[in-house]
Amino acid sequence: MDILKKNLDITNLSNFKTRAFTRYYFELNYINDVDKIIDIVKFSKKNHLKILFVGGGTNILFSFEKFDGIVIKNNLNSWIYDKKNQILESLSGNSISDIASILEKDDEQYLWHRFIGLPGSIGGAVFGNAGCFGLETENNFLEAKVLNLDNGKIEYLSKKQMNFSYRSSILKETGKYFLISVKFDLSKKIEKYPQKVDNIFFRENKQPKGNTCGSFFKNPSKDLSAGYLIEQVGLKGFKLGSAYFSDIHANFLMSDDGGNYKDLLELISLAKTKVKKNHNIDLINEIRIITN
Ligand SMILES: Cc1cc2nc3c(=O)[nH]c(=O)nc-3n(C[C@H](O)[C@H](O)[C@H](O)COP(=O)(O)OP(=O)(O)OC[C@H]3O[C@@H](n4cnc5c(N)ncnc54)[C@H](O)[C@@H]3O)c2cc1C
Repeated sequence: MDILKKNLDITNLSNFKTRAFTRYYFELNYINDVDKIIDIVKFSKKNHLKILFVGGGTNILFSFEKFDGIVIKNNLNSWIYDKKNQILESLSGNSISDIASILEKDDEQYLWHRFIGLPGSIGGAVFGNAGCFGLETENNFLEAKVLNLDNGKIEYLSKKQMNFSYRSSILKETGKYFLISVKFDLSKKIEKYPQKVDNIFFRENKQPKGNTCGSFFKNPSKDLSAGYLIEQVGLKGFKLGSAYFSDIHANFLMSDDGGNYKDLLELISLAKTKVKKNHNIDLINEIRIITN
């Protein structure tokens, strides 16, 4: 397929920045590029190739040296805000944090304040129902425009159809949709677990910086954090080759520059084994491990 680039270095497309290549690569820069996904899907089916959509790359771990498939990088980034009706409509490649900042600055819309500093795209946030400090992506969600990869048709999914749950949605459950754009109703304040926190200060001063995708494991419950369990089994700050759990926030899995994904996988497995043995709890990944 002419439109696909071949053998591209994708190291910087995951925030762990482990060295990685992909067999095929395509970039979505304009809305018309979405039509090309249909041909790419046909090509992938014919050649038994996986497709991976990448937004900000802040929630994926590449578990390979070379991806034997097609990486589609999403740069679709325009959005509009209807101030009168407080409806936000955004293409999926926009940074959620940038939108939240601009809404405050230009439109005195403060509802998404807690998303300022949340890394990644709108698409990634909807896919994994990202949330922070009590605010979840699903809270103000109205409707998604998606491309159904099974039949090549454009569909509109309601909040109910999105089947949102803690760090999940129908997009994550099925893997059969590309999210094109999404609408949010910012007129209603709905917060599940209200928390008083200065999110900008917290992210600047209390969160580790470096090659990481944030919290690696889901919290087992609202009252029991994965970070606490990792600390309890002695892995806070623990290093294995090029991989380590941060000594600031134990659930932040980190990688050295030029790190190896195999070290990350080994450390993940060690944490799971220890937490299971000492606490009889199965840690579940929040971050998606991408395999061939
Ligand atoms: C320092 C740091 C702090 C973080 N803090 C938080 C936090 O407080 N709360 C939280 O929830 N998360 C947090 N995260 C994780 C991350 O920011 C979120 O999960 C974010 O929403 C991921 O977006 P992304 O664009 O980077 O997704 P990516 O990593 O690019 O993709 C994630 C998944 O979504 C899929 N995807 C992306 N776009 C689309 C699309 N348009 N259509 C279909 N599938 C798509 C990808 O295929 C992939 O499977 C943090 C990460 C870091 C690095």
